Amino acid sequence: MRTAICLFTRDLRVHDNPVLQHAARADRVVPLFVLDEAVLRRSAPNRTAFLLDCLRDLRGSLRALDAGLVLRAGAPATEVARLVEEVGASEVHVAADVSAYAQVRENNLRQALTDCALLVHDAVVTAHPPGHLVPSGKDHFAVFTPYFRRWSATPLRPIAAMPEALRTPRLRTGKLPTREELCPGELSPKLPPGGETAGRDLVRRWYAEGVADYGDLDGATSRLSPYLHFGCVSPIELIDQAGDAEPERAFVRQLAWRDFHHQVLAARPTAGHRDYRPRGSRWREDPEAFQAWREGRTGIPIVDAGMRQLATEGWMHNRTRMITASFLTKTLHLDWRLGAQHFLNLLVDGDIANNNMNWQWMAGTGTDTRPNRVLNPCRQAQRYDPEGTYIRRHLPELADLPTRALHDPNRMEPEQRVARGYPPPIVDVTEANAHSRTAR
Ligand SMILES: Cc1cc2nc3c(=O)[nH]c(=O)nc-3n(C[C@H](O)[C@H](O)[C@H](O)COP(=O)(O)OP(=O)(O)OC[C@H]3O[C@@H](n4cnc5c(N)ncnc54)[C@H](O)[C@@H]3O)c2cc1C
Repeated sequence: MRTAICLFTRDLRVHDNPVLQHAARADRVVPLFVLDEAVLRRSAPNRTAFLLDCLRDLRGSLRALDAGLVLRAGAPATEVARLVEEVGASEVHVAADVSAYAQVRENNLRQALTDCALLVHDAVVTAHPPGHLVPSGKDHFAVFTPYFRRWSATPLRPIAAMPEALRTPRLRTGKLPTREELCPGELSPKLPPGGETAGRDLVRRWYAEGVADYGDLDGATSRLSPYLHFGCVSPIELIDQAGDAEPERAFVRQLAWRDFHHQVLAARPTAGHRDYRPRGSRWREDPEAFQAWREGRTGIPIVDAGMRQLATEGWMHNRTRMITASFLTKTLHLDWRLGAQHFLNLLVDGDIANNNMNWQWMAGTGTDTRPNRVLNPCRQAQRYDPEGTYIRRHLPELADLPTRALHDPNRMEPEQRVARGYPPPIVDVTEANAHSRTAR
């Protein structure tokens, strides 16, 4: 009798999951999730709350397939090896992943499983597997446009059928710990619910109603990033369901950006913390400016609005992620790692590939072909939040001010500022950005 372990990592779904599909071909399958101490130590309350929602939901979906989700806590290699012994498994199935940690985890599993096969499945976390699309003689694409051309022209793997039922041995499944037990600390007040059920609902609503309005700060975005990060929705299903109209195409292009950053990190795992393209050490130290940025009290409304959205929702719009990151690294000249870590402390979609590679892009140490470009927050606000709707939503203390004062702090009267308890700008943006010929 063949027994397989289906080791879930960040593929927390039963639909279009090749890991589950292949494991289910054995006579018996044991769905397993390991609460990995090393990951949880670096996680954040918002993401842990979302993860627990995902696990609750996955448990429910597996129950409907006559199976339980076995939970263990500790180091994955040790826990998996122990379970292999306990159930007499001959194979362990797991999704390929990209970060340095994920690569070490896979190696540790390989070493721990001596009499048991480790089957690593591609195209579970991303649509196209990192390393499959490469320019000749290189191990990854460093420029998005040619990558996207190849990405779009390459057929996707077929959608994996969900098993109709699973045959599992009788086992102690283990209780889900509370969020406070796993990762104490304050939660952002407006977090989305986690899990495949909520993710699939969101996808349905997005394609039915949202995508037509897909746009920048004044439009809609899918808010699918945390569901993609935890694998509650499959990128391949998302692409498969997209239509041919422009908004859908623009949306699918963003999914290609996601794959792009994943393939860069897979090839250069150290880029999670080291400059992808070192440009010399030019970072200042300014703990007060960093603190003002974190708190959303820089006196630049569009920057502060973004930072307040992050604190309240554990999520920030892509445009303000770009503006706040450019402001920290190119205007204040603070190290991108500080900003990336602060984002990871709060983002419910916090992801080393997407977060740290985008931070490097904005800091000019990553894959941007124009590393000197600087975003001027005032001009960005005028262009992308022309009515000041976004700023007013996240900075209610400024809601009654005229839009021009929201776009440009120099046009805010000192009395207006004082009456609202809003700080003066910590830096003169025009002067600070003056060196850059590419300020936008
Ligand atoms: C400094 C900075 C940090 C970021 N940190 C993260 C992060 O930790 N996790 C994360 O998922 N994204 C991150 N992004 C990318 C992007 O901002 C978010 O994916 C997006 O805002 C999520 O909202 P959405 O799901 O509504 O996006 P949509 O616009 O609806 O896009 C759909 C999906 O495409 C992917 N995507 C969109 N834009 C990008 C992009 N620029 N790079 C890579 N993938 C993208 C995401 O998976 C997203 O869910 C970061 C961007 C910047 C500039």
